[in-house]
Amino acid sequence: MVGKGLVWCKPSPNLVVRAAALARAENLSHVEPGPRTDSAVDAGLTNHTGYGDVFAPCAAHWLDWSKKPNPKMQEIDTVSQPAHDAPVAAYADALFTLAVQQRASDIHLEPQQQGLIIRLRVDGLLHRVPSPAQEIARRLCARIKIMAAMDIAEQRRPQDGRISTVGDGFQLDARVSSLPTLWGEKLVLRLVPANSSLLTLDALGLNQTQHAQLLEALSQPQGLILVTGPTGSGKTQTLYSALQWLNAEHRNISTAEEPIEIPLTGINQVAIRPSIGLDFAATLRALLRQDPDVLMVGEIRDEATASMAMRAAQTGHLVLSTLHTNSARATLLRLNQLGVSARDLTESLTLVLAQRLLRRLCGACKKACRAATPPGVQIQSTGFEANEAGCERCLNGYCGRLGVFELSSGRGLFEPASKRGSATETLQQGSTQSLRDNALTYHHNGDTSLAEVDRVLPNTNGQNG
Ligand SMILES: [Zn+2]
Repeated sequence: MVGKGLVWCKPSPNLVVRAAALARAENLSHVEPGPRTDSAVDAGLTNHTGYGDVFAPCAAHWLDWSKKPNPKMQEIDTVSQPAHDAPVAAYADALFTLAVQQRASDIHLEPQQQGLIIRLRVDGLLHRVPSPAQEIARRLCARIKIMAAMDIAEQRRPQDGRISTVGDGFQLDARVSSLPTLWGEKLVLRLVPANSSLLTLDALGLNQTQHAQLLEALSQPQGLILVTGPTGSGKTQTLYSALQWLNAEHRNISTAEEPIEIPLTGINQVAIRPSIGLDFAATLRALLRQDPDVLMVGEIRDEATASMAMRAAQTGHLVLSTLHTNSARATLLRLNQLGVSARDLTESLTLVLAQRLLRRLCGACKKACRAATPPGVQIQSTGFEANEAGCERCLNGYCGRLGVFELSSGRGLFEPASKRGSATETLQQGSTQSLRDNALTYHHNGDTSLAEVDRVLPNTNGQNG
């Protein structure tokens, strides 16, 4: 564990916040008085900005890591804590403001032996933010559970809840889940994008050809459209954007989801509940009795759901779903394992859309470097890489994300090998080379770094670039 303390002088509330942020960033154990000047702290902080002054109101309550480890958080009596608690409310507001400012998708509150660790997931990766003092930490978790209408006396079983709150300068909707861990209850807040009008097909990052291909598939009265990729690859955003595009008064759109990620006006969303027997298959069966036009099934993961989705897609319904597969080829194999015949696939599968998300380089601080030069690709001689220190507009040199796609129409997937071009041959090998090629285009355009392309889509064919 960390040992050194950060040394500074002339405490002022704002400086405490900044020093604490610096301590976290430099992996120091605690903050203590000393000869370091304000400007030295400021200088140290220029590389670790991003917290702004949002935590200033709760500066007096920073975690002092020099103290002894505290007892398990779950042993603390949280029930008797008052619902309204000004320092805790200020900290919660500061945390929510920071999360919204940084466009975080999740907030993790993790009890460890030394205290509560708080991390935000921004653009797919977790980043630590300053921790509150132990007293605040305990009450903060209780407060969040109260806000989410969870049972604060119950700390041994996982729970779910929901928060919808508006503060000074932020609006936050989140799904909250709790988990009993060794040092206390861990809470994760999954933030729901506040504005569903942002869910448009234009914002996904499809190129022109892919955009047209997707619109064509969505315009069909029937068929199955599958979005594939690992967790966190943006499948949900794509599905919801497609549903929003289809969302019109003359269509009956219904979904079976686990859980409902974003509430959409005009769409009948059903949260599946396997504990009472309401699984994807049972929900789909019920939805089919409700005169549907468009059906969205959160995930196809068993034979019953697969066969029902296929049948629906062949009998006048447009069906959208996801599979946790890495490539179009892997998708066909998976569906085959789920008992779907090649004939059914040919008749119902209209489009497979494989996707990943790449972090976008920060336009304000990206650094020029030599671009990778893959064989046979015409590229400019300079590329860009991330400024790892970041600037005030970004985290670690990245800001926002880019969708990278590979679309395979049903026909293309089943064409005999002789008709296939090189792109579909790589599909047949189950590789993600074509996705990687699309990602490299972003690199060539200066939108992302080669390191990011390599992180998300490692090179599989051994060639440079
Ligand atoms: Zn930047």
